[in-house]
Amino acid sequence: MIPPIANNFVAGETPRSALSHVEDINQQGVAGILNLLGEHYEDPENAREDTQEYIELAEMISSRDAVGCISVKPSQLGIDIGADVFEENLGRIVDAADCRVWVDMEDYTTTDTTLDAYEKYTRQTDGNMGLCVQANLKRTGEDLERLADLPGKVRLVKGAYDEPPEVAHKDKSTVDAVYKDLLEYAFREFDGGIGVGSHDPEMISHARELHDEYGTPYEVQMLMGVRESAQRELAAQDIPVYQYIPYGSKWLSYFYRRVRERKENVAFAARAVLTS
Ligand code: FAD
Repeated sequence: MIPPIANNFVAGETPRSALSHVEDINQQGVAGILNLLGEHYEDPENAREDTQEYIELAEMISSRDAVGCISVKPSQLGIDIGADVFEENLGRIVDAADCRVWVDMEDYTTTDTTLDAYEKYTRQTDGNMGLCVQANLKRTGEDLERLADLPGKVRLVKGAYDEPPEVAHKDKSTVDAVYKDLLEYAFREFDGGIGVGSHDPEMISHARELHDEYGTPYEVQMLMGVRESAQRELAAQDIPVYQYIPYGSKWLSYFYRRVRERKENVAFAARAVLTS
């Protein structure tokens, strides 16, 4: 059982509890992106099991008419075991899912393989997919040029992995400036839609200005448990908002990551528990 303090960031351990959270936020005009927690599998059986759960989860989203989609991690689908294992599992999910399938981006050693698999399947599904790209990686401008010619959506994030300086911008103000430039490129060149994967008010207002200028459709994507009142406020202004919702038995390390990232997250979670 997940303790109440972690419950703010993780929607239970089962697909049923995660779906019920999606239905709750749907009532507030916020859509869900469900992610089954799990990564860096070395045993193909683990990757197969999570693949199967995603297939069943996608069926549940459709059958319950929930407004939501799924987001998978390459290393959960076996990218560390082999590119072929990852591609096969991703293909099975994409074949079975009616909803959009997002692919998270992990560390820079996986970027090429992830892009190749995404390109193959987003063409096959006529763009019923989305890919995350990271502003901290120096290569991302070129990757966006490649993605601009493909169907599907792109989610721009600042980047969560501690990458070497040869491949990544390390300074936060540089990453912020690059994020804004890449966002502008995406609004100018993409027509499939843009996911603004950030809690940063500055990036979100920049996206609003770019939308006014270029008219490109976009959505704001934020994590469960982070700036949820802002999520509701944006949704009330008719801006599409998606909440990224992790769930599953491997919640502990995810919760610690949120806490390490920002100590206020614990204070916030504790306040929410104490005042509920
Ligand atoms: P930061 O640069 O961390 O903070 C900027 C400002 O945002 C802060 O000053 C504050 O005003 C506000 N803010 C940030 N956090 C909080 C908070 N907890 N409470 C209140 N205000 C806050 N990374 C990857 O590498 N790969 C992925 O696939 C990936 N997927 C993601 C999906 C989603 C939907 C989101 C939201 C993030 C994802 N990330 C991913 C993580 C991302 O790369 C960043 O590490 C993370 O979002 C922090 O950057 P930020 O832009 O939100 O804000």
